Amino acid sequence: MSLVEIKNLTVRYSGIKALDDVSFVVNPGDFLGIIGPNGAGKSTLFDSMLGLNTKYDGTIKFFDEDIKRSKKYLKELGYVPQKPVFEKNFPATVSDVVQMELRDESKQDRIDKVLRQLWIYDLHDRRIGDLSGGQQQRVFIAKALINNPKILILDEPVTGIDQQSTDLFYNILRDLNHRQKITIIWSSHDLDAVNQLANHVACLNRILFFHGESEKFFSNDELVKQYSEASMQEHMRHH
Ligand code: ADP
Ligand code: MG
Repeated sequence: MSLVEIKNLTVRYSGIKALDDVSFVVNPGDFLGIIGPNGAGKSTLFDSMLGLNTKYDGTIKFFDEDIKRSKKYLKELGYVPQKPVFEKNFPATVSDVVQMELRDESKQDRIDKVLRQLWIYDLHDRRIGDLSGGQQQRVFIAKALINNPKILILDEPVTGIDQQSTDLFYNILRDLNHRQKITIIWSSHDLDAVNQLANHVACLNRILFFHGESEKFFSNDELVKQYSEASMQEHMRHH
């Protein structure tokens, strides 16, 4: 059984294709890195997988069931959006933010455990708006993990975060995948990190340019070069 199966996914905004005939599968235990320049359609892909965007052609299945037929799969998903925003003065502590997501009442033990796992237990009483970007990010991951998801989806989670927090975050991801067997789908600009962490790679640039084992991608200089050139052109278009 594949956990996720995406078949011929095409998404259009005002008639213009943001994703064009994208197909791939994710198997249990996979750590999939999705790389692609700005505007490649990464967030569009996630929005569609999460049921936030329902206007698409093709099919998306989780646990062998079409997501248009059942929303049960959402219970098994943890999601860290690209820009989780909290107002500076948002009146909530770290524990409050993580608890908001909790479906089961009165599970203080669970909250404490997840906060410890993310190295933020010491911060549980601090206001969310007072934390650094890296600390906030770990709170959002804690929030995504609180209901024990089978699959964790993260959309470019390290933008604007310092190197030390990024390293810690990568170690946490590795641990979640290796030790807790959580399937991870993660979009990133950091090719080195994808090379080190992910066992599968999807190169997206409206079309799926490559999908397969990360070794096969990173050991193929020609592929990496083509990808880098395409992203650089895209980058120049945006600046
Ligand atoms: P990425 O996350 O890889 O940067 P996006 O999925 O955000 O890419 O965007 C893909 C393309 O779709 C871009 O050209 C973007 O401008 C466009 N797009 C994204 N969301 C919308 C929307 N809600 N309405 C119209 N166009 C959109
Ligand atoms: Mg995006």
